[in-house]
Amino acid sequence: MAEDKKILTSNFGAPVYNDQNSMTAGNPGPVLIQDVHLLEKLAHFDRERIPERVVHAKGAGAHGYFEVTNDVTRYTRAKFLSKVGKRTDLFARFSTVGGEKGSADAERDPRGFAVKFYTEDGNYDMVGNNTPVFFIRDPLKFPDFIHTQKRHPVTNLKDPDMFWDFLSLTPESIHQVTILFSDRGTPRNFRHMNGYSSHTFMWYNDKGEYFWVQYHFKTEQGIQNLTREEADRMKSTDPDHATRDLFDAIKRGEYPSWRLEVQIMTSEQAEKYRFDPFDITKVWPHADFPPIPVGRMVLNRNPENYFAEVEQAAFSPGNFVSGIGPSPDKMLQGRLFSYHDTHRHRLGPNYHLLPVNAPKAVAANNYQRDGFMSSGATAGGYPNYYPNSFGGPAPDPETESPAITVSGQAARQQYIHPNDDFVQAGDLYRKVMTESDRANLIGNIVSHLGNAQKRIQLRQTAIFYKADPDYGSRVAKGLGLSLKEVESLAQMIQEERAKATQ
Ligand code: NDP
Repeated sequence: MAEDKKILTSNFGAPVYNDQNSMTAGNPGPVLIQDVHLLEKLAHFDRERIPERVVHAKGAGAHGYFEVTNDVTRYTRAKFLSKVGKRTDLFARFSTVGGEKGSADAERDPRGFAVKFYTEDGNYDMVGNNTPVFFIRDPLKFPDFIHTQKRHPVTNLKDPDMFWDFLSLTPESIHQVTILFSDRGTPRNFRHMNGYSSHTFMWYNDKGEYFWVQYHFKTEQGIQNLTREEADRMKSTDPDHATRDLFDAIKRGEYPSWRLEVQIMTSEQAEKYRFDPFDITKVWPHADFPPIPVGRMVLNRNPENYFAEVEQAAFSPGNFVSGIGPSPDKMLQGRLFSYHDTHRHRLGPNYHLLPVNAPKAVAANNYQRDGFMSSGATAGGYPNYYPNSFGGPAPDPETESPAITVSGQAARQQYIHPNDDFVQAGDLYRKVMTESDRANLIGNIVSHLGNAQKRIQLRQTAIFYKADPDYGSRVAKGLGLSLKEVESLAQMIQEERAKATQ
């Protein structure tokens, strides 16, 4: 047989001599249970699907690198950021959030923006979105929020009442709702959008000084969005358009790139700042904390196998390296648990051994052992306990992160802060958006909110009104609602808030 001719084998390498005819007793059959090849083929097929991600199910990814362009060593000792010109391999995945694995890429939804840096200190994951803020600031609300974006438990249909009912009862969502219903809610594709950490993280340097930081990945392709009409057309003509666009661009050699910038805040500034720096529903205005350049991310290699490299890619905001740590942001704290937990559910307890998830520039070395699908790759043999006197791996005190002070009563505490939920959404509407942005925002809201019950429309429109009276009035007009009713509901929201903050 010619060298290059591949023989079909079983999963265990044994040659298969016929893959077209099941083994039967007589002709045409019945089929014999001793046809192990048939049984194995069917059994594997029956198990091809793994649970899809409960959020961010539909996505596309690519390999690339990060190159440092600016010295940030006074803020962080992260080794991959230690020198201008230093390059680190990475894998990035972009996604929609609420839809199933087969849903359309052009849906109005935030886009996930996750990057895994394979650093010499282990893997560092930046797991953000294309929006700088989020709908809610407490992880206890997250499962409820996501349920409202999914299908109705009775009809199995997307339900505008569920969607707007929750949002209108959760005024902290207004900032993100305003971004989502602007044309940034339907990016032209994954290449033409920014990525943000949304959360605040900690950076710390060699001296043990720490800083609060927010990440901004600015697209070098330029921001481009779809209008509502273009997105609707795209959903029916090419539901996978963003997945296709990313793959084809890289295949053509047009490598998409993003500039990484960070905003930095000292702990003294954080104590006095007018916004809560750990509230994910707020940004840090650029005028207060100007973005500082850090480096550049380039995606230059497509996956060879979608399932292995993209479907099984397991990011976690809890994957830190020395020099980077968490902040007290409550949503982040919830995610530190949920991501690893999801991967254990979807991929099993040894998901970190899969090639796309395993560290590449350093070996993992610890005393965790066994479990489903263990390949023995983590440290392997003896000793399997710590402390030991047989030369097993020991902790490195040099990598200790700075201590931060926390105080207060352990209780379920209502979030109260002098700055309200509406000011930044209002600023975005008034100061940042152009008149055509505003017109598209109103049109996008009216065409969606118009499908919800009238009492829900009123409650949500009062929230738009609280952000900015012109914003609320134009939505009210578009929906044919009484402005008087909207104003009196807005007044009630004001009074309820005043009572809560007394
Ligand atoms: P700035 O004028 O300094 O920044 C406004 C930023 O808003 C721009 O730099 C751009 O950020 C982003 N932006 C521009 N057009 C739109 C749009 N149509 N929809 C959403 N974002 C847009 O003002 P501030 O820093 O005081 O922020 C004002 C408002 O801008 C915020 O309330 C927030 O809604 C929004 N914003 C602020 C960001 C921040 O980190 N400060 C980041 C993104 C939005 P970019 O260059 O990142 O695209």
